[in-house]
Parts: sequence; C-alpha cells; structure tokens
Amino acid sequence: MDTYDVAIVGYGPVGQLLSILLGQRGYRVAALERFPAAYPLPRAVHLDHEIARILQSVDLRSDRDPVIEPYDDWYEWRNAAGKTLLKVDWRGVGPSWWHTSNFFSQPELERELDLRVQKQPSVSVLRGRNVTGLQQDLNGVTVTASMTNDPDEGEQRVRARYVVGCDGANSVVRGIAGLPMTDVGFPFDWLILDMIPNEPMRFEPPAWQLCDPARPTTIVPGGPGRRRWEFMALPGEDIQDLNSADKAWELLQPWGLTPDNAALERHAVYRFQARWANQWRQGRILIAGDAAHLMPPFAGQGMCAGLRDVNNLAWKLDLALRHQGDDRVLDSYGPERTPHVRHFIELSMQLGRVICVPDAADAEARDEAMIAAMNDPSLAPPPPDPPRLGPGILAVDDAAAGVLSIQSRVAHDGREGLFDDVVGHGWFVLSTKSVPPLSAQAQATMDRLGGRTLTVGGFGAADAADAADAADADVDVDLVDIDGRYASWFDELKADAVVIRPDFYVYAALSDVEDVDAALTALGRQLPAAPMVTT
Ligand SMILES: Cc1cc2nc3c(=O)[nH]c(=O)nc-3n(C[C@H](O)[C@H](O)[C@H](O)COP(=O)(O)OP(=O)(O)OC[C@H]3O[C@@H](n4cnc5c(N)ncnc54)[C@H](O)[C@@H]3O)c2cc1C
Repeated sequence: MDTYDVAIVGYGPVGQLLSILLGQRGYRVAALERFPAAYPLPRAVHLDHEIARILQSVDLRSDRDPVIEPYDDWYEWRNAAGKTLLKVDWRGVGPSWWHTSNFFSQPELERELDLRVQKQPSVSVLRGRNVTGLQQDLNGVTVTASMTNDPDEGEQRVRARYVVGCDGANSVVRGIAGLPMTDVGFPFDWLILDMIPNEPMRFEPPAWQLCDPARPTTIVPGGPGRRRWEFMALPGEDIQDLNSADKAWELLQPWGLTPDNAALERHAVYRFQARWANQWRQGRILIAGDAAHLMPPFAGQGMCAGLRDVNNLAWKLDLALRHQGDDRVLDSYGPERTPHVRHFIELSMQLGRVICVPDAADAEARDEAMIAAMNDPSLAPPPPDPPRLGPGILAVDDAAAGVLSIQSRVAHDGREGLFDDVVGHGWFVLSTKSVPPLSAQAQATMDRLGGRTLTVGGFGAADAADAADAADADVDVDLVDIDGRYASWFDELKADAVVIRPDFYVYAALSDVEDVDAALTALGRQLPAAPMVTT
C-alpha cells in the first residue's frame, strides 16, 4: 500500500491549492479524485485581493497570467426602472495589493492550478478514484477508493498520516467522519450562463445586478473573453424548462445576445444553499472548502472561503507533521475558520435577500428604502466589521489578532517589489522600531517557526533611494516602505510591531516593541511542545 503524509480527497480548486501548498513544503501528497477529467460546468467567476495574494504564493498572478482579469470599476445594483439602488466601489487594489475584485472562469483557473500541482514532485494526482472508506487509527488513516475508470480493477487503498476532505458539497469524508452541519437554507434556483461573445460588447457598468422582480438577473464578467448571466427561477417555474439552451437564448435576447454574435458555453441550474460544519476535524480527518461550508454566490466568496481554509490549514499541517505526537495545533483550524466563513455566508444571504425578490410590492418597498439610503447615507445600515478569525493561534485580548494583514511594495536587499516576492513567506515580526533582544523563550519560538524580525520604514518617500536615506536617519531599516502603506497600516492599528502568520493573518499587534517578547513567548506556548522532526 502506498503511504503519504497527506491524502486529499477531491481535486477541485481547494484540493488543488492544498496539494501545491503541501508539495511546496516537500510533503508526500496523494490527491484522489473520482472524475477522470476536470469538472466542466460554470461556477465561480469572482475572487478578491486576498485570494489573489494566496494565488501569488503559488505563482499564479493576475499581473501576468491572462486567466485572471482584474476589475477596475463600480459594481452597481439597479431596479427595474434602471434607478441605482446601491453602488459598490470595486476600483483599484485592496489591502493585499491585488485588485479588490477579479474575474476568471473556474475551469481555466483549475487548469492553471493543475499545471502547478504537476510541478510538485512529491504530489501524486490519482484520478478515477472514488473514495468510499476511511479507517482511522493512532498513526494514520487508510483510504479506500473504488476505481471509477474501470470497476473491474476493484479497489485501491492508500495510507496517510492525515486526510483532508476537499470533496465538495456532498462530502463523503464529512459523512464518514460524522462532522455535523448547521443548515440555514437559502432555497432559490438560478440559471447560470457562461457566454463567449464573438464581437466586442460593452456593459455599463461591467458588473451589476438587475433587481427586477420580473426576473432578478446578475450580469458580470466571466473571466477573459467571457460574460456571465445569472437568471433567478421564478416561483412555480419549471426548472427543466429553464435549464435549456432555447430558454437561455430567449432570456439573453433583451441583452443583445444571439447565436449569431455569441456562443453559449455552458448552462446549469443551481439551488443555492447556506450551511457550515460545526466541527472541521475528527482526529486525523479534516474537511475544507465546500465540504465544510456552502453559501449563495452573491458575494462571489464560496471558493474564496475554501482557498482561505487550506491557506490556514497548510501551515498547521506542516507543524503537525513536523512535531510527531503533538498535533493540537490542528484543533484551532475549525474554530478559527468558522466565524470568518459565517461572516461571508451571512453577507451572501443579506445580498441574496435584496436580490431574490420576485414580488412587485416587496420590490417597490425595497427600492424605496435603498434609494432613500443612497440619498441619505445616515439611513444606510452600517458597513459590516471586517471578517476575523475565531479563537485559535492568536494573541488573546488583542483587537487586531485574527484580521488580515496588508501587502505592499518594499525595497529589501537591493530588490524592489511586492513583500511576498521580495521577502518571502512565513512568520514575521514587522516593526517600525528596533525590537529589543529576545529572551531565550521568545527566540526559541522564532527559531522553531523560522520566523524573521524586520523593521520597516522610510515611509512615503518619492522613491526607494530617497526612502532609504530618510529611513537611515531614524532606525536601521530592513524594508523600505515604498508607498507608505505600511506606515498608514501601523497608524491604523496604533501599533509599533505586528506579528504576522504564514497565512497573512495578524497574530498580535503591539503598541510597544518591548511587548514583542511576551507575544512570542505566548505564541510558543500555543504551539506543539514535542521535539521537531525534519522531513
Ligand atoms: C453558480 C455558482 C457561482 C459561483 N460563483 C462563485 C464566485 O464567483 N466566487 C467564489 O469564490 N465562489 C463561487 N462559487 C462557489 C465555488 O464554485 C465553490 O465554492 C468551489 O468550487 C468549491 O471548491 P471545492 O474544491 O471545495 O469543491 P468542488 O469544486 O466541488 O470540488 C470537489 C471535488 O471533489 C471530488 N469528489 C467528490 N466526492 C469524491 C469522492 N468520494 N472521491 C473522490 N473525489 C470526490 C469532486 O469530483 C470534485 O472534483 C460559485 C458556485 C456556483 C454554483
């Protein structure tokens, strides 16, 4: 029986990303996928700046790879009469430096991720394996899969120290592990169309929602060369009739699309859902992505949430695999991710409740309230707090612990560029002042994690050379803050030092560099105690 460090069940985008993240760390990984080829149906089209930064870490970049199209415009909601109900500013870049919103076609993104998996020598992609059984013992898990390409081949068994179920909404792994879900339901059916126009077409704005009770409709980019239309099924409408090419062309006609000027690449009807797992780990078995949560797609965040899951899990699995015998760090995975993902589930449902209104009187009342709030912002609901991780490997009683850090351009060691490109990945103490020498305990934590302490300064200078001159006067600077964004961020946090985790989330923000030592000592106590084993 072949043995691996981690067996990943399901090779959708979430299983693919985890395969790369573990392969980059040198782990032996088997990714078992029931289908012989990639899933071809239309699904995700939108990802945000944080996900673009995660993709940067696997060398998939919207500034180079044409599969991702950065968006630089408003996202608008209008009523049936064409009046604006809401305008969301999606222009420019977000805190992670990448664009706030980006569009892509999921099958193309999966193809790009697959190419990067193939470059990992320690990762085996085993297609045509339908996982049917998991047998867990003290040392690992035996995974049983039936061979879907050729049932006569019988079954295959592999052995792994951990199994991660990235096997989608109907997760077999979740079922076998008995991980319970909370299901709050969101029972709306939508027809999803992926279109390839064969002549230039302009839409103003390029991404918008038509909140028309006669047919709520989403009109957004669908990735390079594509457009996406989504039409809500009306009460009592026959789903079979709706999910046909004829109906698709009928619905597209008012939008100027015909078989003469566009190709209908795919159509599918989905029933949206809203649910999350109450527990994400059962011993050596964990779940991620759609296996752990589902949300309606109105915020474009379902896959994004799954990619965040495995960006959180990868460094914890790394610690668990290196500290044989103490894998309590994995206990923090579900509790950290649950409130974060619930933030997006609730946001998606709130948006859906505004959009999915098929009743004319209800729609009129909604329009009145939203137009009033457009005219008088004091009537608008307050913007939601930023999403934040739940309790886990985070400093306690720290207002910034669990929020996303930023990425900006830096100059370092004679190179200029984005932080991750120039400095790399891992644990960092970033500070605006020199950090005093660490105690033995704090230093031991940094050594175990391979953490680095870097001072950042020279804020807001016209160019890197200027910045270096300015910074030299103040403090011995390791990183020049080319755009002054780190300066603004430290100001916002009222911090002189920030401890940042490998998944880009803040562990602690400290108003005094003297407190770095205590924060690292506390971090050390939250991490595995057993001796480290090199892989
Ligand atoms: C209409 C629509 C629009 C969407 N829009 C967006 C968007 O704009 N932005 C966004 O972020 N998200 C969006 N999403 C959500 C996004 O598509 C999903 O969240 C994402 O595909 C989940 O990825 P995953 O890898 O977790 O699961 P999946 O993509 O479902 O992959 C799971 C894989 O596991 C395999 N598998 C299942 N069972 C087994 C088994 N027993 N053995 C072996 N293999 C198995 C499956 O064959 C599949 O390949 C949208 C979804 C829909 C339906």
